[in-house]
Amino acid sequence: MNTLLFNLKDATQESGCPVCSLQQKFENQYLETLFYEYVNDREIRDKLRNGGCFCPQHIRMIFEKRSSVLGISILFADLLNHYFTSKSDRQKNRCPVCEGWKEKEAFIRQGLHKHWRKMKSSWGERAFLCEKHLRNIPQDETIRQEMEEISEKSLKNISQDLSSLIRKFDYQAPKKSISKEEGTSWQEVLEFFAGSRLRKKSKSYP
Ligand SMILES: [Zn+2]
Ligand SMILES: [Zn+2]
Repeated sequence: MNTLLFNLKDATQESGCPVCSLQQKFENQYLETLFYEYVNDREIRDKLRNGGCFCPQHIRMIFEKRSSVLGISILFADLLNHYFTSKSDRQKNRCPVCEGWKEKEAFIRQGLHKHWRKMKSSWGERAFLCEKHLRNIPQDETIRQEMEEISEKSLKNISQDLSSLIRKFDYQAPKKSISKEEGTSWQEVLEFFAGSRLRKKSKSYP
């Protein structure tokens, strides 16, 4: 197993969708490296100019992360200059982060199938494949069913915590009586439907 597969196995033991979790890690790492180390790299700049910039989702991520405002400013000044000079031949939809992730996702899909038995045996009680990845990841019918079943089991655990959280709100129970699992349950459900990691860094409620 290589590092990516080790990370995948780890992620199947945590709560949430392991593929979304790895995607978030990949995107964070990609943008961090890009803005700190590759802002002046000619090849990267050409790729961005020719590909028509980042997609809206990743521009939002760049805005929220703002790992290096100087790096962002330099790169986007270059993209704006390019926009002024080549409006007509602008290509779109070739975001480098999306393209990089597509390759990784294909590798993860293979890894998840190849090592499914092992991953399944240590699957976390709150780990699930989100709606999007339940559709995209399984190739084999038996594995697809097993992935669905194991995800549903975890989602039922999360659903119980969510009901308990709602009850505590209704009874205006003290905040400290809300467990960590109950506190994060609403975010996990959002992740399931969103097909992306939405966890805040703070582990406690709210
Ligand atoms: Zn997912
Ligand atoms: Zn993108």
